[in-house]
Amino acid sequence: MDTTLSPSSTAAAVDSAAQRVSSRVVAWRRDFHQHPELGNREFRTSKIVAEHLRALGIEVRDKVAHTGVVGVLRGARPGPIVALRADMDALPVTEEVDVPFKSTVRTQWNGMDCGVMHACGHDAHTAILMGVAEVLAGMRDRIGGGVKFLFQPAEEGAPEGEKGGARLMIEEGCMAEPKVGAVFGLHVTSNHHTGMIGYRSGPLMASSDELRVFLRGEQTHGAMPWRGVDPIVVGSQVVVGLQTIVSRRMDITKEPSVVTVGVFHGGNRVNIIPEEVKLEGTIRTFDEAQRSDVHEHVKRITEMIAAAGGAQARVDIKRGYDVVVNDPALTEWSLPTLRRVAGEANVRVVDKVCGAEDFSFYQKVVPGFFLRLGCTPPERDLRKVAPGHSPRLFVDEDCMPLGVRALSSLALDWLASNG
Ligand SMILES: [Zn+2]
Ligand SMILES: [Zn+2]
Repeated sequence: MDTTLSPSSTAAAVDSAAQRVSSRVVAWRRDFHQHPELGNREFRTSKIVAEHLRALGIEVRDKVAHTGVVGVLRGARPGPIVALRADMDALPVTEEVDVPFKSTVRTQWNGMDCGVMHACGHDAHTAILMGVAEVLAGMRDRIGGGVKFLFQPAEEGAPEGEKGGARLMIEEGCMAEPKVGAVFGLHVTSNHHTGMIGYRSGPLMASSDELRVFLRGEQTHGAMPWRGVDPIVVGSQVVVGLQTIVSRRMDITKEPSVVTVGVFHGGNRVNIIPEEVKLEGTIRTFDEAQRSDVHEHVKRITEMIAAAGGAQARVDIKRGYDVVVNDPALTEWSLPTLRRVAGEANVRVVDKVCGAEDFSFYQKVVPGFFLRLGCTPPERDLRKVAPGHSPRLFVDEDCMPLGVRALSSLALDWLASNG
């Protein structure tokens, strides 16, 4: 047996290659952090990614789904293809973390000036995957098959009127030619300390749909409500009625769900009952059947309450991201690898997350596994740290070598056991 290709020597080779690239992973992350770009506008980021992959001898297709980069690393021998995914976009958030590489980038968002920040940690994801590409490119002779690197734009959503993200990457062929057999990805999380890897078999992150309700009443003087139909009162009843969906209609022993009304617009003067009211909200579920049930209940409750009050209702539900469902067999298969790289005690089952992720769309094409990487420094109290999308999100860079080792090892082990 050729000992240079034994599993333990491969693990050692991953570790030392990850060690060698670690300071540059930090440097890339700081550079992206200081130059964050919004969805479908990741021009600078994707240029750096594409140049890095090309320098490693990886085949590159750029401008996929606007600013995405797809790289294919061919191994020395034929075999299956495994995909690894990172997202590259930042958020319209004004950074409040005091680091030397703090973002000072500004943008116009909804007509207002605000900052741009990597407030979801995608800077770390991109840097980690660049590190993985370098580790694996140096191990070509050990690879049967190949590794596809998916650097995806606009995970947080595309600008109004544009398509983007994972859905568009797939439409533009990122899972085909060469055809992908499985996909892995990760997300940093401040809910856990550095060194920890969180996993969950089955549903991990929620589906996310946008709700809009338009209620038309009949305008009248505020002093004479009987001469019209007050859409503010009807709208208030609708808000209360919607609360009964999760509490009274859903089987809570199965999966949790959320219906939130976040916007209530109507009226402009103390003594005028307006003609119309607009409500907006979000719907989160962890199961496709419950998702359509919630949609039906929202429609029926809204229309019936409106009718009871003499108003007219229009309900628009815009389907967003699907549920992130970790393939149970692939999740189970991944655990020995994760335990080897992180240590037995540092690989734990995590709670479901009501946030959404468009990684779900890749998982609709092939079995996929999405893991969570702790990014809070060990000395910090987890109850006091800022979550993702906060202007105070802090990512401990010490979590990144583990991310590099985890994704590199999952890819190599998957190719070895599926070749
Ligand atoms: Zn996010
Ligand atoms: Zn994110």
